[in-house]
Parts: sequence; C-alpha cells; structure tokens
Amino acid sequence: MIAIDTVGIVGAGQMGGGVAQVFAAAGLEVLLHDVDEPRIAASLNSIDRNLGRQVDKGLLSESARAAALARIRPAPLLAQLGVCDLVIEAATENQAIKRKIFADLSAILKKDAMMATNTSSISITGLAAASDRPDRFIGLHFMNPAPAMQLVEVIRGIATSHETFETAKALVERIGKKVAVSEDFPAFIVNRVLMPMVNEAIYTLYEGVSTVEGIDAGLKLGANHPMGPLELADFVGLDTCLAIMQVLHEGLSDSKYRPCPLLVKYVEAGWLGRKTGRGFYDYSGEKPVPTR
Ligand code: NAD
Repeated sequence: MIAIDTVGIVGAGQMGGGVAQVFAAAGLEVLLHDVDEPRIAASLNSIDRNLGRQVDKGLLSESARAAALARIRPAPLLAQLGVCDLVIEAATENQAIKRKIFADLSAILKKDAMMATNTSSISITGLAAASDRPDRFIGLHFMNPAPAMQLVEVIRGIATSHETFETAKALVERIGKKVAVSEDFPAFIVNRVLMPMVNEAIYTLYEGVSTVEGIDAGLKLGANHPMGPLELADFVGLDTCLAIMQVLHEGLSDSKYRPCPLLVKYVEAGWLGRKTGRGFYDYSGEKPVPTR
C-alpha cells in the first residue's frame, strides 16, 4: 500500500474545507489550495468555528482543536502541493477545470503520489486520463458536510490499480468513515438516486403543483426526510445540482434526467443557494424565506 501522511486539497469551498478538517482531525498533515486565494483563509476560519462548536459540545478537547487546526497549512500556490502523498481535488464541478488541475498536478507531484477527485458525477476514467498516472488515480466522493457524514464513495477508473484501490479504502477507514464502492457511472450511487429527486422537486415547483414551503414540508413530514429537497438543493449549491443533472442527462442519454428549466434559470441568475445567499430560499435575514 502507498503511505499517506500529507494530503493536498485543491479547492477550498464547502467540500474542500470539510475534507481538510476531516483529515486534520484524523492526524494527517493537510495543505489547502484554492485558485481564489481569499477562499483559503475563509475556509480556515470556518474550520476553526466548526471545531470550536465540537469543543463547546464536549466532543473535542481544546488542545485537539488547536492541534487539528495547526495541521492545516494554506498553499496559495499549486506547486506547494509537491510534497503531498495524495492530492484530493474538490474544485468546481466542471470537467475542463478539473482536467486542467490534474494536468498541472502531473508536473508537480512526486512520481508515486496518488491523485483523487471529489467529483459528484464526472467520469473518473476521463479525469484520470488528464493526469500522468491513471493507475494512481481514484474517485473519493465525500458527502456534504464532510465532517458530519459517515459515507465516502470510492470509485475506480478503468486504469486504477489494485494498490491504489486498497490504499484508498484503508484511508477512508483510517479517517473514521465508511466505504461504499461504486462503479464508474455518471453520479455514482448517491447522486444517481438523490439528484433526480431534487430535480423532480424543482419541476413540481415549476409546474405549480405546490410552493417551495409546500414541497419541502411534504417530503419532510410525508417521507421523513431530514431536509426538504429544495432546502437540500440550496445546501448542495444549485450550480453543482445542475452540473450533476447535465452529466446524468448526457452520460445516460435518457430524457428522464433533463435538468428542470427553472434550475437552469436560477443558475443563470447567479442564485446558487446558501453559498450566494439566495436560491429557493433567501438567506439574508434571520430565517430563510422562500423566493417563490
Ligand atoms: P464550492 O463552489 O463551494 O467550491 C469550489 C471551490 O473550487 C471554490 O472555492 C473555487 O474557487 C475553487 N476552484 C475553482 N477552480 C479552481 C482551480 N482551477 N484551482 C483551485 N481551486 C479552484 O463547491 P463545492 O460544493 O465545495 O464542490 C466542490 C466539488 O465537490 C465539486 O466537484 C462537487 O461536485 C463536489 N461535491 C459537492 C458536494 C455538495 O454537496 N456541494 C458534495 C459532494 C461533492
């Protein structure tokens, strides 16, 4: 197996920050990179707040919080990730952006270092082909929020080696998560099932079957979901939801995955959910207010 002590994260958004926190809390060294440099500091602040909440609840000691935080170092330059044994890409859900990152990393990383992607839907085999090491490339799909959710989907590309697969599964267990192995099909297991439901909820709104509140209350009270599907869409990010539906639609060539035109409109408007303060709800006040 490949020894993993230092992990690089590319993309310090909601997922990259959460994944960095998980590895640091498990005792690994972490380097956090983002093309938009202020995102790194913002992410470190939010990790600090999250760990602080765990201290308040008595789940973590103050010294463990400080030690975990000290293990995450900002890496404003991609080249700083050259020391890593594994780099996990958690950048925007866009194939061209991700391919460029893996091509750039190929020239930077040690020969035996592993690469992984946190993509929600894009072909692992295709992204691996943009790197110089498809045998040492794997999908590690964390759920959101990464520190709280138990599951990590592990996805092999066609060229992923047995050693890489075994290393990845052992690593997921080492950080206290559970593995679900998925084959390399669009959106894997969880989002293949979840996103069409979210998309259908948006169609339900689009067709006037009910309101934002009616749809979310329906699924929470009628199906015991902890979050309504529109609330969930805002939480995931509407750009990410749309990107996943597009990959499903194109990848499986089935009209049942057609992204709802209302979802497309919201993304065009820049209403991406919680991360921009507005999606199916407006988050500017104390309580989220439906936008339709
Ligand atoms: P986000 O918008 O919160 O963050 C994306 C980050 O990537 C941003 O900070 C952006 O500046 C950065 N970025 C963009 N291009 C970059 C580049 N070339 N180099 C370095 N950084 C770059 O998005 P997110 O929700 O954190 O999603 C990130 C990835 O994780 C996506 O692939 C997404 O599908 C996946 N994912 C998302 C969720 C979710 O619920 N949001 C869950 C699991 C996996």
